[in-house]
Amino acid sequence: MSMAAEDLREQARALRERRISSEELVGEHLRRIARHEALGAFVHVAADAALQAARAADAARAGGDSRALLGLPIAHKDVFVTHDMPSTAGSRMLAGYRSPFDATVVARLREAGAVCVGKTNMDEFAMGSSNENSAWGPVRNPWDRRAIPGGSSGGSAAAVAARLVPAATGSDTGGSIRQPAAMCGITGIKPTYGLCSRHGMIAYASSLDQAGVMARSAWDCALLLGEMAGFDARDSTSAQQPDTDYTRLLEQPREGADAQRPLAGLRIGLPREWFGHGLADEVAQPVREALRQLEQLGAQLLDIDLPRSRLSVAAYYIIAPAEASSNLSRFDGVRYGHRAEQYRDLAEMYASSRAEGFGAEVKRRILVGTYVLSHGYYDAYYLQAQKIRRLIAEDFLAAFRGCDLIAGPVSPTVAWDLGEKADPVSVYLADMHTLPASLAGLPAMSVPAGFGLGEHARRPVGLQLVAPHFGEARLLHAAHQLQRASDWHLRAPHD
Ligand code: GLN
Repeated sequence: MSMAAEDLREQARALRERRISSEELVGEHLRRIARHEALGAFVHVAADAALQAARAADAARAGGDSRALLGLPIAHKDVFVTHDMPSTAGSRMLAGYRSPFDATVVARLREAGAVCVGKTNMDEFAMGSSNENSAWGPVRNPWDRRAIPGGSSGGSAAAVAARLVPAATGSDTGGSIRQPAAMCGITGIKPTYGLCSRHGMIAYASSLDQAGVMARSAWDCALLLGEMAGFDARDSTSAQQPDTDYTRLLEQPREGADAQRPLAGLRIGLPREWFGHGLADEVAQPVREALRQLEQLGAQLLDIDLPRSRLSVAAYYIIAPAEASSNLSRFDGVRYGHRAEQYRDLAEMYASSRAEGFGAEVKRRILVGTYVLSHGYYDAYYLQAQKIRRLIAEDFLAAFRGCDLIAGPVSPTVAWDLGEKADPVSVYLADMHTLPASLAGLPAMSVPAGFGLGEHARRPVGLQLVAPHFGEARLLHAAHQLQRASDWHLRAPHD
C-alpha cells in the first residue's frame, strides 16, 4: 500500500523504522499533488526545495536526529508567510509577494523537522466559507468534485482529504479550519485564541484570527499542535501556556474511567439553539449518531442553552469586517503588494491599486467595516456588536459551569455545489455554528461523523466539539477516544 494512504502517525513510524526514507515519502506526495492538480488545492508547489529538505532530513536521521516531525511532508495555508515561497493569501494584491521572514508557526514546524511541500489555496484574505473567493480559482471537494471544499482553508482541507499531504496548517477566524475540515471529512482544531502565534499570519480580523491544524485524526492534530503552540513575544496577544505534549495526554485515563468507557464522567452539553431551525436532517442524523457513540464511551449528554448564540452571525459580520477594513488599509500600493500602472496622483494610485488588487468580497467587507466604524454608526453597530460578543462569551462561561465540553454540528448543511450560493448573506448564515466559539475565543474541533443522504451521500458531515479556554487536551482526548471507536476519519475519497 502506498504510504500516502497512511496518516501522519503511521508515516512518522515508517520513517523511524526506516521502512521508507523522507525523500521517497515526500516524492510520493509530490507525485500525488501533480496528479491531482485539477483539485486546485495548491497555489504553489515547492518540489525541488521539498526534496532537498527531505534528503537533509534523511541525513539528519542517519546521524541520530529523532525530532518528532523530521522528514514528514506538510503544507501551509497561503495565509502564513514563508521566506522561501510566495505568500499571497489568495489575493491578486499579493501576487508574487515574498516575505523576508517565516511566520512563527511556519518556523516552529520547520524547526521540528517538517518538510513543507507548498502553499494551499484559500479564500482571499481568509474571507469566505467556500474557497470560491480565491483570486487563483476555486478548490474542488475531493469527495465530490461538483462541491465546494468549504473555506476559507479549502485548499488545506482538500489536500489532506485527497492524501496530497498528511497534514496542513489552517487559520480560523470564524470557522475556516472547522468548516472545511467537516466538508472534506478530515479532523481540524482551532485552538484557544492566543495559543498559536499570529506573527506572520496575514491579518484578517486580529481579535479572532487563530492558527491551527488540519489532519486525518485527532492524534495527528495533537502532534502538530504541540509543535506549533507556544508563547511568542512578536504577537502581543500570545498566551503564556506551559509546553504540552498533547499526544501523551490522549491515552491518559480519566478518573473513574475504564477501557470500555474511557469518557466516563465527561459531561457534554448540547446547545438547544444549535439543533433547531436551519439544521439539515442529513447533518443532524450523523451528528446525533456520533453523540450516541460518545455516550456509549461513557460521556453524559445534557441539554444546555446558549441563548445569545443566535446573534453570532450579526455580531461577527460587523466585528470581522471592521477589523478587516483597518488591517487591509496597509495594502496601499506603496510598500508592498500590487501597484496600479497608471495614475495621476497619490490618491488615484491608492484607489486604483486597491480597486485592481482586491476581489469583490474583500471590497464588500472593507465597505461594511469602514461604515460600521464611521462616526455616527460606531455606537449603533460596532459597539453594540462588541457588547453582544461579550454576552455570547458569558453564555459559554455559564454553560461550562455545568459541562466539560459542548457539542453540535459544524455546518448546518453538507458542502453545497460550486457556484450554488450567489447571495453573500446566505453564505454568512451558513457560519452560524462555528462563529460562537470564535467570538468567545474558545478552542473547537471538527471531527468526521458521516455523510449526507441521497445525492449528497459523498459529502462529509462533521461533529463540532468546543472546550473551555485552553482545554485543548480535553478536546483532543475526547476526539481521539471517539476515533478509536469509529472509523469515519479513516475513510478516503477514491484514489
Ligand atoms: N466564513 C467566515 C468569514 O468569511 C470565517 C472565515 C474564517 O474563519 N477565516 O469571515
